[in-house]
Amino acid sequence: AMRLVLPLFVFGMLINQIQRSEAAAQRIMELLDTEPAIRDRLDAKPLAGRPSCVEFRDVRFDYKGREQIINGVGFALGTGRLIGVVGPTGAGKSTLVKLLLRYYEPDSGQILVDGLPLTGLALESFRRYVGYVSQDPFLFFGPVLDNIRLGSPEASDEDVRRAAEVAGADEFIQGLPQGYQTLVGERGLKLSGGQRQRISLARAILRDPAILLLDEATASVDTRTEEIIQRNMDRLRAGRMILAVAHRLSTVRNADEILVLVDGLVVERGRHEELVRKGGVYAGLWSVQSGEGAPVVQATEQEA
Ligand code: ADP
Repeated sequence: AMRLVLPLFVFGMLINQIQRSEAAAQRIMELLDTEPAIRDRLDAKPLAGRPSCVEFRDVRFDYKGREQIINGVGFALGTGRLIGVVGPTGAGKSTLVKLLLRYYEPDSGQILVDGLPLTGLALESFRRYVGYVSQDPFLFFGPVLDNIRLGSPEASDEDVRRAAEVAGADEFIQGLPQGYQTLVGERGLKLSGGQRQRISLARAILRDPAILLLDEATASVDTRTEEIIQRNMDRLRAGRMILAVAHRLSTVRNADEILVLVDGLVVERGRHEELVRKGGVYAGLWSVQSGEGAPVVQATEQEA
């Protein structure tokens, strides 16, 4: 279990904490020898300011010693827009997110941020603009309030509350025994996967990231991520780019573009209505999901 928990802890720290802790987290990561520690190039350049576009150009990637996982993916994402990524388990959806986080670098092709190759950027200058909600977010032992404030120490209680509202977390937090003071994490009150994702989303929103990466949890039945995204769509994506991996198609129904990923290839792309009309892979998944209300992952696993 520690093998799983520690890396999650470290990556949570890496993304959620600001500069002061990143060096420490990086050292922990190196000690653990888990994911490869990407380092700045000698001639790495800082990002000039808040980025407003991200582009994948024919990106290919494999984890060392395995078959190609990403087989030439391209898309462009601009401020105020949301791209959804759907597809069967193992298609490479999370890997796309990890490439954009620069946990890994493409074997060929390019990821451009404001036109600059991500591999040439100073990591810290990029990651400070990135918010990441993983499938299994890390909460430390402490009050919900501090868990959300992690990485934004200057934020007021009111700021935290507003971020929680946008993340659709405020309501359930207020229902906890001690509200925002309720102790959560390892020895605290046990929260569901969906609740932890919403706390993690609030934490990310508080940092006002230019790039928000959402990796929707597969299993948690209570995950209302889709509702939250639907309800708060305008507030969520105002002034930022969102890349959302979705297991429920309704989560990305309003996306500006949906990428249907199969075996590391985008086999279909477009808006929800276009893809439904097209009668292909997406339309098949949609009819199963909307017909039975079942999470789409069940349908995709049968297909795989
Ligand atoms: P998805 O998110 O679509 O379910 P992933 O991106 O998680 O797919 O995984 C794509 C493929 O890459 C899978 O075959 C998975 O087993 C493999 N994979 C994922 N992470 C690693 C890793 N750290 N090392 C080696 N293989 C991995």
